Amino acid sequence: MHELSLAQSIIEAVEARAEECGVERVRAVHLRVGEASGVLVDALQFAFEMLASLSPTLTGARLTIEITPHRAWCEPCARTFTVMDFVARCPTCGTWSTRILSGTELQILDMEVGADGEQGSQE
Ligand SMILES: [Zn+2]
Repeated sequence: MHELSLAQSIIEAVEARAEECGVERVRAVHLRVGEASGVLVDALQFAFEMLASLSPTLTGARLTIEITPHRAWCEPCARTFTVMDFVARCPTCGTWSTRILSGTELQILDMEVGADGEQGSQE
């Protein structure tokens, strides 16, 4: 299961970052996933929650995922287009020599941090 090792890597990266910044608690992790990256978002979400619950830093942390569309650039036409079914061929001129712009990435964008008891302590 690819998503499990992926979730593990994300959690390790976030933990390392949290330690670097002296953060005790991570509340949420924002991720950007390209629609052509091959990642199963539901499976990743599930694996993340499972592994986060085992981490003192990430217990209860949420994973939010932003999906980026698969897009490419055609030089002769000087335009971008949406890649359908992994076929990066320009729909206008038919060339295959196009450049992928987005849709294959997997990147941690941001994380929300906060100390214990920071939420729901208003009285
Ligand atoms: Zn073209």
